[in-house]
Amino acid sequence: MSAARYRIGQGYDIHPWSTDPRRKLVLGGLVFDGLPGLAGHSDADVIAHACTDALLGAAGLGDIGTLFPDTDPALEGADSVELLRLAVKELAAAGWEPVNVDCTAVLDEPKLSPIRHRMEAVLTAAVGAPVTVKGKRTEQVPELAGAVQCWAVALVRSP
Ligand code: MG
Repeated sequence: MSAARYRIGQGYDIHPWSTDPRRKLVLGGLVFDGLPGLAGHSDADVIAHACTDALLGAAGLGDIGTLFPDTDPALEGADSVELLRLAVKELAAAGWEPVNVDCTAVLDEPKLSPIRHRMEAVLTAAVGAPVTVKGKRTEQVPELAGAVQCWAVALVRSP
């Protein structure tokens, strides 16, 4: 009997704040009223996108843009947690299962500490393995204020 194989992957994403008042802010699968949205083809959920890329990278399955092109009209306004779920299905088809994902998002609003557990619940349900979310502020670095960034690492296993 051979031992399980493990691989790690890293994901990164950035979406600028949108000036379009119709854009809803979606982060970690949660929708926030009263804040600007992020610009993007899908719902621009930067946290879900970083998780997706980390998992795809770990499994050697490319990246989110290959699987879900931002030129595909069908993906306009797409629910990124659903895309994450579909990516996990691709992993399963290739013989990989997620072990965990850990992310760090950089933003000032909304503060993640009071809500990160709700995001983690949504993302964990989509991935089928623990997803943890941490927030860092922009610390008044002007170059960081115009966008939300997220980094993620994922561990996957081939049983
Ligand atoms: Mg993205």
